[in-house]
Amino acid sequence: MTKLRAMFARLILASDGCLLAKLQVRPTLAQQTKEKQPLDGDLLKRIPQVEHGVKEDFDVDAKGILNFCGRLCVPQDEDLRQVILTEAHSSPYTIHPCKGKMCHDLRKIYWWLGLKRDVMDFVARCLACQKVKAEHHFPSMRTNYSLYKLADLYIAKIVRLHGVPISIISDRDSHFISRF
Ligand SMILES: [Zn+2]
Repeated sequence: MTKLRAMFARLILASDGCLLAKLQVRPTLAQQTKEKQPLDGDLLKRIPQVEHGVKEDFDVDAKGILNFCGRLCVPQDEDLRQVILTEAHSSPYTIHPCKGKMCHDLRKIYWWLGLKRDVMDFVARCLACQKVKAEHHFPSMRTNYSLYKLADLYIAKIVRLHGVPISIISDRDSHFISRF
């Protein structure tokens, strides 16, 4: 499944030269963070503090980006934060990580107040994750289900996934032979 996803993503890129070109010129997230930092008043006032040696864990890195404990300070910019969250969670190259892993990964690179809450909200709103969760709760087959119930489950699960079979191989379970 993961391999398929990656392959699909590559196909899109390969068959659409424009998209590929766009991706190449798109400024990196670090660059966007740098450009938008001065628009955030709280971050802006940190820069002279760093220059005057009042550090408090803030620093400006070699690329001129304000850091907090070595992590990029992401300004209060909803669009940028959404792009960062999307890339960490649902880019074509990632298998949707859970909240904990996503927080852990993002915190290695980025810092902003409320990062954890934003991750929780983002994952809670992810349709693909909601679907996986729902399928997880699909009732498992129980031996006391009636033949009709089994038939329903069969149609719902197997046929939907694999199509109608040419023949059925039964282990002659009493459920299957009793009324055929
Ligand atoms: Zn997801």
